[in-house]
Amino acid sequence: MTIDYNKFISNRGKLKGPSAIREIIAISQQPGMISLGGGLPNPSTFPFKSIKVELKDSSSLTIEGQDLELALQYLPTYGLPKLSLWLKELQKVKHYLTDRESWNLIITTGSQDALSMAMEVLLNDGDSIITEEPTYSGTLSILRPLALNIIGIETDEYGMKPDQLEQRLSTHPSDKPFPKVIYLIPTGQNPGGSTMNDKRKEEIYAIASKFNLLILEDDPYFYLQYGEEKSKKSFLSMDVDRRVIRFDSLSKILSSGLRIGFATGPQFLIEKIQYHQQSSTLHASGMSQVIAQQLLTSWGIENFDKHIESVQQFYKEKRDQFVAALLEHLGDLVEYNIPQAGMFFWMKLKGISDSKKLISQKALEKKVILLPGCAFLTNPSEISSHVRASFSIASSEQMNEALKRLSLLLKEEISN
Ligand code: PMP
Repeated sequence: MTIDYNKFISNRGKLKGPSAIREIIAISQQPGMISLGGGLPNPSTFPFKSIKVELKDSSSLTIEGQDLELALQYLPTYGLPKLSLWLKELQKVKHYLTDRESWNLIITTGSQDALSMAMEVLLNDGDSIITEEPTYSGTLSILRPLALNIIGIETDEYGMKPDQLEQRLSTHPSDKPFPKVIYLIPTGQNPGGSTMNDKRKEEIYAIASKFNLLILEDDPYFYLQYGEEKSKKSFLSMDVDRRVIRFDSLSKILSSGLRIGFATGPQFLIEKIQYHQQSSTLHASGMSQVIAQQLLTSWGIENFDKHIESVQQFYKEKRDQFVAALLEHLGDLVEYNIPQAGMFFWMKLKGISDSKKLISQKALEKKVILLPGCAFLTNPSEISSHVRASFSIASSEQMNEALKRLSLLLKEEISN
């Protein structure tokens, strides 16, 4: 199937073109080129001599010479070439891509930035977009100002329900633009905690193909899968039509402060995002990219995988501690599925119709912070009986204490 990508580009996206200055930076690296064109500050005025990064395993990275120059200077918008190459190799290995397919990758300031740029280059005001219900509040905050028709599709422990999706698309009202895009968080969904298995992904992909929709696969928790059954088949890996843009992040596995994300997908669409970035952040932080590149190069994919295993083990233990605390304190006061990935529990508070009232006042008085379910609903005026609890940071003792306080609160509330 050949996709006409122009059909998916918003009016804003169509107006984004290459910046003359940014294009020069890419060609100024060619051998023998003398550039009087760019506006690069002269690095001899910068105060940094070298940067040493000590790692927890007692090894260290020293950034100096040419690497330091790169870290301190403007970079190509697609990203630091050596990091870009490393990440492309990673994508090839993890998502079974080959060189023959016309895909590309852009490094961004966290995946949040990539998502925001993608939404802007794809969607016009009034356009329709499909998301899971509930969905990531950070994406809703990108979508709301775009004045979109956001269509939330019901989810279960495996994420978006294919029958509901198909039904909704088949009965889409003719007075509203037909959706162009499905936005999904397939692994350790934020906030729902669901993880799609391969079968579910195949079903959703087939529907996207039938109705000719792009899939935006937001997968920052892909490497945080600690369940028995790991999903290795991303939407990107099954993308025979070239309709998937995949969003990855180093935030949950190396550091969220590095602010490094990357989007992978069809050349045409990644180029559109690149034009957007040329006019917004120019490129992700050079310092962060050089640090990440040196670390990843020194590890290679094998040691990257070892690191990932230890991160998974960490979150699995946290998840198990949370389950133990839930069983001890909340028993049948809440309903939930046990997440197989990510860092969130999505809990339905039984007997409570509007969790916001409880969470934003009474829970705070008891010194417990949870997020109310309504923050993740596509319709901002709807109420929810759910809360999102994160188990990434709290110690086992803190989890126990927090859930004990919540249990007291729920008992008080139900008896009133
Ligand atoms: N998508 C989802 C589903 C997230 O949970 C987050 C982080 N909270 C992001 C995107 C953004 O991550 P980052 O910008 O740090 O890569």
